[in-house]
Amino acid sequence: ATPTALMVGTGRGAQLGILIKGPEVLENTRRVDTVVLDKTGTVTTGRMTLQEVYAADGTDEKLLLRLAGALEHASEHPVARAIAAGAEMEVPPLEQGDLRGPAGRLPSAEHFENVPGRGVRGRVEGHEVAVGRFFDDLPPDVARARDEAERRGRTAVVVGWDGAVRGVLAVADAVKETSAEAVRELRALGLSPVLLTGDNRAVAEAVAAEVGIDEVIAEVLPEDKVAVVKRLQDEGRVVAMVGDGVNDAAGLATADLGLAMGTGTDAAIEAGDLTLVRGDLRVAADAIRLSRRTLATIK
Ligand code: ADP
Ligand code: MG
Repeated sequence: ATPTALMVGTGRGAQLGILIKGPEVLENTRRVDTVVLDKTGTVTTGRMTLQEVYAADGTDEKLLLRLAGALEHASEHPVARAIAAGAEMEVPPLEQGDLRGPAGRLPSAEHFENVPGRGVRGRVEGHEVAVGRFFDDLPPDVARARDEAERRGRTAVVVGWDGAVRGVLAVADAVKETSAEAVRELRALGLSPVLLTGDNRAVAEAVAAEVGIDEVIAEVLPEDKVAVVKRLQDEGRVVAMVGDGVNDAAGLATADLGLAMGTGTDAAIEAGDLTLVRGDLRVAADAIRLSRRTLATIK
């Protein structure tokens, strides 16, 4: 390939809102036939809001929200931000001069631990609290609350403390307005879209249906996203991946072409070959189109 044509492609990319690591990455797009799309923050906005609070029998709903909110306040995850914000709205302001808690409203958490792809754990108000996917055996009422929330397309996380399951919090995220159009454009370019997520299957299927994706790979732990990319490559597919999270970085690096959302984490941006500056998925199609045109002028 002639360097001049590739440099022109790079310049045009910048105009479209695509930052290209080096001109040579454009060559990798030539044979791409599959595009793996992360769900949260890539196909969806990642700006989740708390929608449902379910407290098991004998559990105080306000206490549940306060303990879970205090813990999630220390995490950056979109699920965590929704729960912390929702809890802050519910928790009455503390007495003036009371300086407990990071936000001055929620109590503080000790021994905080973030477990990627699962949730958070720590000590709040003397209780050992866990929020996320830590509990295998759920009481029937809690399991029902979780399943119903998931059927409504929400992400449900289980809250427990001191060894007992206490309830469920459900958060919801909106699909970006541009995602369905982006999927149509990617298909028009001959690419097969695959939705990849750590979230539960029901939520993943609901999002996939909304944007027009048939192939869904859900409930994948962060460390296994890269294995999914490798498996697709072993099947002979040439894979582009679009992602935004820390949990997408290894996949972006392994994919034949890694596209990072500019609105995402530094880890994803460093791992990607391209950055989509505005976080608009349609620009992924622009990037593939641009590089194909650039390469065509070289031939
Ligand atoms: P995605 O692949 O969609 O970006 P993640 O791998 O980050 O999602 O998370 C997968 C799942 O793990 C979430 O849907 C949620 O159930 C659980 N989880 C992750 N982080 C948290 C947290 N801070 N609090 C509660 N649950 C969490
Ligand atoms: Mg994500």
